[in-house]
Amino acid sequence: DGLSRFSNFPVVDFTLESERNAFPASIAKIRSRMGGEVPLFINGKEVRTDVHLDSYNPADPSEIIGSVCQAGVAEADMAIDAASEAYLSWRDVPPRERAEVLLKASQYLKDNIHDLSATQVLEVGKQWDQAHADIAEAIDFLEYYAREMIRLGNPRRMGRAPGEMSQLFYQGKGVAAVIAPWNFPLAISVGMVSAAIVSGCPVVYKPAGISSCVGYGLVEMWKAAGLPDGVFNYCPGKGSVIGDHIVDHPKVSVIAFTGSMEVGLRIQERAAKVHPGQQQCKKVIAEMGGKNGTIIDDDADLDEAVLGVLYAAFGFQGQKCSACSRVIVLDAIYDRFIERLTEAAKSVKLGPSENPSNYMGPVVDKAAQENVLRYLEIAESEGNVLVKHEVSADLKATGGCYVPLTIVDGITKEHRIAQEEVFGPILSVMRAKDMDEALDIANSTRFALTGAIYSRSPRNLERAFNEFRVGNLYLNKPSVGALVERHAFGGFKMSGVGSKSGGPDYLLQFLDPRLVCENT
Ligand code: GLU
Repeated sequence: DGLSRFSNFPVVDFTLESERNAFPASIAKIRSRMGGEVPLFINGKEVRTDVHLDSYNPADPSEIIGSVCQAGVAEADMAIDAASEAYLSWRDVPPRERAEVLLKASQYLKDNIHDLSATQVLEVGKQWDQAHADIAEAIDFLEYYAREMIRLGNPRRMGRAPGEMSQLFYQGKGVAAVIAPWNFPLAISVGMVSAAIVSGCPVVYKPAGISSCVGYGLVEMWKAAGLPDGVFNYCPGKGSVIGDHIVDHPKVSVIAFTGSMEVGLRIQERAAKVHPGQQQCKKVIAEMGGKNGTIIDDDADLDEAVLGVLYAAFGFQGQKCSACSRVIVLDAIYDRFIERLTEAAKSVKLGPSENPSNYMGPVVDKAAQENVLRYLEIAESEGNVLVKHEVSADLKATGGCYVPLTIVDGITKEHRIAQEEVFGPILSVMRAKDMDEALDIANSTRFALTGAIYSRSPRNLERAFNEFRVGNLYLNKPSVGALVERHAFGGFKMSGVGSKSGGPDYLLQFLDPRLVCENT
């Protein structure tokens, strides 16, 4: 196909002075421009509404990132109508041409990676490296899905019967509603949106309210890539106002969602109902929660295990569906591991993510802060607090959305803190007498997203391979940071429906296969 083989965009290299200088420069630049009104973007035009939602910096809620116009039902309908009109021509644009648009979009992200990272540092409190990784993942999705569509775009001859030419090929299903999360605000948005678009499905995109300015980056990106009007529509709005309306709409064929289990289950239930005028069954792709465990075997390399667990539990404040929220430690190594983990946890610096010496920053907004503090009370009542590491009194007084970095032990399978997704920096420690019990605990939640094991025993690694039943299992590696293709991502049980993002089956979910057989 004339394209190089897919490879992942490189991780940021802070040994380069140019990289180190780029971040503060971009943060200052974005800061000097931000705070204004952010319009909707429907059918190639900016649309303004009277209702606004202010998106703020979680490290300093008085700093407004953007005042985002909120779509109501009327604007959502406009966006769905525009997408539905665009579908009639976009579905027949050759796959290769649709892929080319993604490659141009990828170039735009590469050219603007520092400014886009800076927006995330300010809007959702990502650390520099985490923000850069998010843009890199968005680039990867564009590059990978472009190649995937080219692969799937060639009609496939079926059988070799004489006198017959039978071909199988794919067509986009129709309008896709993309309902995106705030935690990987560019990567997951671009992943779901670009998969739909390259498959021939125009998109109505509803970013999360608290990351809508990052979400607006998709408008700039598709403009730069020359995507035709109506194929991408930016439609931020409150879930309570437009969420059900979009899901229920008879002209929506696909709903791609990443977020909580509660919302994911609600979408699946509503999407099953057929509404007047509806011409197709709706397809739902939902990536939902996790309650991910990491097993520490009695012969684990503790240098690696301590750093890996710390990063998987507290990187980006634990706000990843892949985060480690349960560490399951074998009896024989329990005291040694816990001593080292707690010492390491107490030594990290806490404060605004804008300052790269801080390991952990604020959670994403005030509601998240309240939610984590509620779970902290539950954790304190169910277990013994080993670490409750907080920001300084000065920082607390700034009103930033800080919560303590918390580690509790004495947690067993029955505890709520061992079963419910917190989405914040609370790590439960669970003791296991042997590998049988460790695996039993690991599999004891209704989720099955990620997991990890640190072990030097080939037999125990093999047992985990077979018996630790999650979507993404990492051996001697943290459970976070999946890369497109190499770690195609997604779970099962209550962690979601649909196949892995960044994997070879993902686009098929947006496509209807057609077969044409000619008597020759
Ligand atoms: N893909 C991300 C990772 O592997 C997690 C995605 C999510 O939190 O939704 O860390």
